Amino acid sequence: MPEVAPVLMVCAEEARVEAELSGGALVCPSCRGTLRPWGHARARVLRCAAGSRVLRPRRARCRSCAGTHVLLPELALLRRRDEVVVIGAAIEAKAAGAGHRTIAGRLGLPKDTIRGWLRRFAARAEQARVHFTRWAFALDPELGPILPAGGMVMDALEAIAIAARAWVLRFGAGEAWRIAATLAAGLLLCNTSCPFPPVR
Ligand SMILES: [Zn+2]
Repeated sequence: MPEVAPVLMVCAEEARVEAELSGGALVCPSCRGTLRPWGHARARVLRCAAGSRVLRPRRARCRSCAGTHVLLPELALLRRRDEVVVIGAAIEAKAAGAGHRTIAGRLGLPKDTIRGWLRRFAARAEQARVHFTRWAFALDPELGPILPAGGMVMDALEAIAIAARAWVLRFGAGEAWRIAATLAAGLLLCNTSCPFPPVR
């Protein structure tokens, strides 16, 4: 069993999410039923590259299974206080050879926070590689083979980059780490016992 109820990743534009939700355009991550507005989750501060912002994610309730789900903006990952783009930059810096102290200094964040992200990403790297490889081929069935990139973390980053590129080719411009957050349903840095959702 996953340790958390599935969240639905949504666009960061609140007005658009509101319109989609009230128009019945958002589907339940558990059963694909229609979601309806169901209040808000508690407010939280998200540290972004451009400064902190307060998020108050929407909650929704499914008409079919009656489950409630948090609608998490694609900026964020579940249970992380920092924007996914910032987390992704730290992971890429580590892959390029920087240590966690250097990265922490560069991003102006506590080194334990950085170390926590890097360790969790490394622990999940093989799961992430498999998940994003499936997504890459689901989005682009013509895709050629993905070659080994030099280690588990590098392979995971390569799969994320290729899946994000395939997503952009299919749906239009988007930021790679936000796409990764969406395709991983916000679970990119969750515990390894919390599986990624099936690719569909
Ligand atoms: Zn449902």
